[in-house]
Amino acid sequence: MATDIPLVTLPSGESVPKLGQGTWRMGESRRARKEEVAALRLGLDLGMTLIDTAEMYADGSAEEVVAEAVAGRRDEVFIVSKVLPENSTRAGTIKACERSLKRLKTDRIELYLLHWRGRPALEETLAGFEALLDAGAIRYWGVSNFDVSDMEELFALKGGPACASNQVLYNLRRRGIEAGLLPWSREHGMPIMAYSPIEQGRLLRDRALALIAGRHGVTPAQVAIAFVLRQRDMLVIPKAGSETHVRENRAALDIALSHEDLAEFDRAFPPPKGPRPLELL
Ligand code: NAP
Repeated sequence: MATDIPLVTLPSGESVPKLGQGTWRMGESRRARKEEVAALRLGLDLGMTLIDTAEMYADGSAEEVVAEAVAGRRDEVFIVSKVLPENSTRAGTIKACERSLKRLKTDRIELYLLHWRGRPALEETLAGFEALLDAGAIRYWGVSNFDVSDMEELFALKGGPACASNQVLYNLRRRGIEAGLLPWSREHGMPIMAYSPIEQGRLLRDRALALIAGRHGVTPAQVAIAFVLRQRDMLVIPKAGSETHVRENRAALDIALSHEDLAEFDRAFPPPKGPRPLELL
């Protein structure tokens, strides 16, 4: 099976597949579980071996779905999980990670993110991440939903520049980071991980997207994902709960968007004219 997914290099020099798999809304229903596990496993077969999850998703049940999907093939997978801001003191981060490891039925999380900024000082969370690194419970740490000012604050702290990635909202309708956070991250050699590439399905009804998809003989979801994938150093994590969607999303890598397509996108979804506050979902 084709597993030739382009790679993105983390600041450590390790490379991970550019196209991974999200898991928000997984683990919410017993009935859907078998299909969700099968979808994630097919994604792994197709080379989408980075799986993003979080303690928040289905109150931990999404992590249990991931555990089932990676059973017997754990070493192939790069797991990303997240600590909730309310747990992000030093001790709270460590305890949250221990709970996630239990649900994930594993001894390490490859990349552990602060889900968004909360009350605890960043130094606290960093101290928790560093203890987890020392214990071998996580391999890298990073952040999510951090704007440029948050990143600057983080990078000014001792150990802050070790941040491996910032996971943020980016898709055709949410292009704000192109004028601020994306160039900042590039300057600092840290890849962005883009979430909600198809705006949780809401982009699929867009007319401009449908037109371009029709021209390529593919689906609007595939074109929306291809638009995000075109950023050379960006990780992309669409969530798909069915094997059909997983296959489609994997095939988005084969779409070559033309200058004409990109110009049409710029008309339908104008890029930012200047810095804008980071949008959250
Ligand atoms: P998304 O990936 O943009 O969209 C997921 C939705 O699109 C699901 O309803 C899915 O349906 C549908 N879909 C997927 N592939 C499709 C296809 N080929 N054709 C038609 N529909 C398709 O949204 P997301 O789940 O919000 O974002 C992706 C991941 O990013 C999340 O799962 C999560 O891991 C992460 N995330 C992180 C944050 C954060 O704050 N850090 C926030 C949001 C998301 P089916 O399930 O039926 O396939």
